[in-house]
Amino acid sequence: MADIRGKFTFPGGTHPPENKHFSENSSIEVVPVPKQVAVLLSQHLGAVCVPTVAKKDTVTAGQVIGKSDAFVSAPIHSPVNGTVKDITLEPHPVIGRTMAVIIETAEEGNAPKQPVNTRFDKNFDPNDYTVEQICRAVKDAGIVGMGGAGFPTRVKIEPNPAMPKEVLVINACECEPFITCDYRVMLEWTWQMLAGIRLAAKAAECEKIRIGIEDNKPEAINVITDAIQERSDIGDIQVVPVKTKYPQGGERQLIKSVLGKTVPTGSIPPTIGICVLNVATCAAIAEAVMTGNPLTHRVVTVAGCAIAKPGNYYVPIGMRVENLIAHCGGLTETAAKVVMGGPMMGFAIADLSTPLTKTSGALTFLTKAAVTRAKYEKQETPCIRCGRCLSVCPEHLNPTKIAHAVKHFRMDIAQNYYLSACIECGCCSYVCPANIEITGYIKTGKILKAREKKRLG
Ligand code: SF4
Ligand code: SF4
Repeated sequence: MADIRGKFTFPGGTHPPENKHFSENSSIEVVPVPKQVAVLLSQHLGAVCVPTVAKKDTVTAGQVIGKSDAFVSAPIHSPVNGTVKDITLEPHPVIGRTMAVIIETAEEGNAPKQPVNTRFDKNFDPNDYTVEQICRAVKDAGIVGMGGAGFPTRVKIEPNPAMPKEVLVINACECEPFITCDYRVMLEWTWQMLAGIRLAAKAAECEKIRIGIEDNKPEAINVITDAIQERSDIGDIQVVPVKTKYPQGGERQLIKSVLGKTVPTGSIPPTIGICVLNVATCAAIAEAVMTGNPLTHRVVTVAGCAIAKPGNYYVPIGMRVENLIAHCGGLTETAAKVVMGGPMMGFAIADLSTPLTKTSGALTFLTKAAVTRAKYEKQETPCIRCGRCLSVCPEHLNPTKIAHAVKHFRMDIAQNYYLSACIECGCCSYVCPANIEITGYIKTGKILKAREKKRLG
């Protein structure tokens, strides 16, 4: 049995209540095909896709329905057989409203897609595939970082002589409260995930693989360690138990914890020879390479007190939140807040017709009582200069100075305090005794800064 005490960590951070009990023991459940899906054309970083289908077209599951020729982009596929009803604006969980392909599901021949984890076992050999085959499959499947960032995975893993990579770090922390989708993937799709990890390491030419898992997931640590030990010939791959602390799953924080290295401010991990991938992304890589299946489904955690049947659900990307709520038995009491993601970094959504995207790992349903208890519903009072926000900031920023500058539209001062280095983890807001929504100010500051740049550019 592996030593599961997480000895490794990063400076700063906090430890909010974990609340994993709602769904951590719920096996992944396949949901029935909804009558309609709305597949957003913007669900990754980089160029927005242009639709490749038109109204009234018949589409099949897995067919490309949107793409872009830009280097940083990823195609989008239909998760069902059906007919394009419209191409129109739909609510987006992060950026307001954006174009989507609305597909009415065909009544016949639409059995729910099943996970492919049973097709993988310990005998999987990444050497059956060339680097070119792996990169092509990942590109064609439209795989993006499923942990939330949504960066096209092909760009991350393909060989780049200008920026060679040595270490592949797997982000298996899932440090946000409530979320358990990656945990269930680790337990139930272990061999598939490991296959994806080894394929990604081969494509990225990484000799070393480190899987960072928080020590509140001992079962996952043991299952993956045992699986690795079953194969003595799979190279330098190790599980690294890390301390349970938020935001341990932040890319920069995980690298610090696992490798003791610092990614320079304003830079990205490949500049220091590191590639970071999330657990679900690795499972998607394995599926794409072995079966050719595009990324049309994902596991979503449904959790919180205000939903009848919390759990981990395998859903088509493009399913509307309201349809998933109905499948989960509906709301148990008036939900005061529905959050796409977890309570620290997620986005509250006002419209339940919002579709799920490739990066939607969770829906958190908070009751009125939970929201009333939450800091952000309380009255903001003046800063008492306690310094707590500084001590928890994992990026060593001065959050109160940045927030104050943004409040007074002094973007020059905010930038001097490294506004753009903030990873929006929410730790500063979480600990502030004056209930100042510091992260909110910082996010607003980034938007104002981007607008300013656009105006001047
Ligand atoms: S300033 Fe940014 S990075 Fe620092 S604690 Fe606040 S939200 Fe997190
Ligand atoms: S935690 Fe709040 S009250 Fe304390 S210094 Fe930061 S902004 Fe001020």
